[in-house]
Amino acid sequence: MTYRIPFNKPYVIGTEIGYITQCLAAAKLSGDGPFTQLCHKLLQESFRAPHVLLTTSCTSALEMAALLCDLEPGDEVILPSFTFVSTANAFVLRGAKPVFVDIRRDTLNIDEKLIEQAITPRTRVIAPVHYAGVACEMDVINEIAARRGLRVVEDAAQAVGATYKGEFLGTLGDFAAYSFHETKNFVCGEGGAFLAASRRDFERAEIVREKGTNRSQFFRGQVDKYTWVDVGSSYLPSEILAAFLYAQLEHMPEIARLRRHIYERYYAGLQPLADRGLLTLPIVPPDCGTNHHLFHVLVGDLDTRTALLEHLKRAGILATFHYVPLHTSPVGVRFGHREGMLPITESVSDRLLRLPFYAGMSEEDIATVVDELSGFLLDRRVHG
Ligand SMILES: *Cc1c(COP(=O)(O)O)cnc(C)c1O
Repeated sequence: MTYRIPFNKPYVIGTEIGYITQCLAAAKLSGDGPFTQLCHKLLQESFRAPHVLLTTSCTSALEMAALLCDLEPGDEVILPSFTFVSTANAFVLRGAKPVFVDIRRDTLNIDEKLIEQAITPRTRVIAPVHYAGVACEMDVINEIAARRGLRVVEDAAQAVGATYKGEFLGTLGDFAAYSFHETKNFVCGEGGAFLAASRRDFERAEIVREKGTNRSQFFRGQVDKYTWVDVGSSYLPSEILAAFLYAQLEHMPEIARLRRHIYERYYAGLQPLADRGLLTLPIVPPDCGTNHHLFHVLVGDLDTRTALLEHLKRAGILATFHYVPLHTSPVGVRFGHREGMLPITESVSDRLLRLPFYAGMSEEDIATVVDELSGFLLDRRVHG
């Protein structure tokens, strides 16, 4: 089914095809060519990030981070349940056990006050997820990690360009992962980036990303042949994707402006409903600079959300819910988690609604969504 107002539409700059043509002309299609280098440089400079490597997805960047954490079976990783499966899978693939912690009511991010009590002698990693591009309380998380000797892996899939106390997300933990999936702010279809804070971790990451070989050092002339030196897999994207992505990254400020505009329109348009207590608007704490990754609202209960989604659908608007909590999923239950354990996660998961949101969305479409949402909630209050 196609909708009059879709949920997402990838924003195309227009220079992508030209860059791909250049890359075909140079006959360099495999990874780590000139466009990949340009992306690395631009990301490093834009975000004051010491070490960046493009990957085939955020999922693969998380897998690299998990590999570099040197986990052993039975080791534990602390993460929110209100996230995408990849945050958990990356560690579960290494034999680790996911330990889920509830989220804060305001940012919907992991509640840093609950982390300490989830730590056991087997805990190795904390994996905060910056939901909607709004930062977790990183100072507190990093302080706990430093004191308890844990690694911090930021799932910054949604947070490219967002900040915490003036620092870019993805540069605050030991490792981080960005996503350039079609649904994110800057895209190449499927893609991501891995970030590391230390030189030592980065050198090993290069090897892990190149099938466990020192091929990157070989290409730089640092060794005279390359060989198998560590575990690893193939996590580097083709130059074709890097060429597409570079066109997007060159225009990050323009895309960021467009997204901010839509966010502000929604916020102002829905404020009257929030004032009447009919919905809750997103909350961005003063320390956090959002990248306006998505626009979500919380309604009163699951029935209201179900009816609202249906109402919008009939009006030709595709809005969506978000994560089914990982702790109540079949795999989560196999790890010993149960419904009822994380009340805020469960409540938010039932009541959250994401509105259509993409760079280039028209004023008229934003107004239509606001009107349909307002009409439904006001009418439900009167008659429901
Ligand atoms: C999108 C997303 C991912 C996965 O990104 P891919 O690039 O599709 O692998 C992981 N975590 C979060 C929080 C995401 O939003």
